[in-house]
Amino acid sequence: MSNIEQTLSIIKPDAVERNLDGQIKEMFSINGFTIVQEKKIQIEKQEAEKFYKVHETKPFYDDLCTYLSSGPIVVMILEKENAILANRELMGSTNPKDAAEGTIRKKFGISIDKNSVHGSDSAENAKIEIDFFFKS
Ligand code: ADP
Ligand code: MG
Repeated sequence: MSNIEQTLSIIKPDAVERNLDGQIKEMFSINGFTIVQEKKIQIEKQEAEKFYKVHETKPFYDDLCTYLSSGPIVVMILEKENAILANRELMGSTNPKDAAEGTIRKKFGISIDKNSVHGSDSAENAKIEIDFFFKS
């Protein structure tokens, strides 16, 4: 049975700053994702804090929110069969050092914090995250 899903992807400041957004979008395209909507924005730290609220107890939370709001990002709704898991696989492990060959984080990630992309981790969070950036 087909299971077309949508997931939220973010090209993070480190990648936008290095002009990697075109190459990363091409990887999505080659891997069968459709970019349904996209926008290039910069968010306030307060918005980053809301977006990453699940991590608020983590020691890296403050740095993470400062970082996500530090420069332009590209937010996208990606669509594909089983898009949520497929995007997590294409992104690779959180730490680029552990990411598999051919993944976005292996190719472009600099470090665990500057790992170039975000992707929703579940159907529930995909919906919440898509609404966060695209609900009018
Ligand atoms: P993912 O982005 O792979 O879903 P998490 O949801 O666990 O990873 O973490 C969110 C983001 O927080 C990561 O992408 C990374 O930028 C940052 N992060 C995670 N773990 C650490 C850590 N130990 N130190 C610094 N930053 C981290
Ligand atoms: Mg996550």
